[in-house]
Amino acid sequence: MHPRCIKCNGEHAMRDCSITEKTEEPKCLNCGKKGHLAAWKGCKALPVIKKTSDGQSRKSYAQAAAEQKNKEEQTDRKDASLSGRGT
Ligand SMILES: [Zn+2]
Ligand SMILES: [Zn+2]
Repeated sequence: MHPRCIKCNGEHAMRDCSITEKTEEPKCLNCGKKGHLAAWKGCKALPVIKKTSDGQSRKSYAQAAAEQKNKEEQTDRKDASLSGRGT
C-alpha cells in the first residue's frame, strides 16, 4: 500500500514531499477547491466513515479509524516542522 501525499497527490508520504513551504492556498485533492488540504475534516468531499449495520466486520471500521488517526498525526508533524523551520 503506497502512502499518498495530500499536497501533490504523489505516491509518497507528505513529509517526503518536495513541496516543503507552506502554501497560502493549498488545493484540496478531494473536492478541488483551494483554501484547504485534502485532510481537512471540514471538506465536503472527505470520505466519511459511516456506521454500517449490514454486518460489515468491526475490523474494517477499526482500520479506518486508525488510518484517520494516522492522518491527523501526519498533519501535526507537518505543522510542527514548518513552524520550527521559518523561511
Ligand atoms: Zn507530495
Ligand atoms: Zn476539499
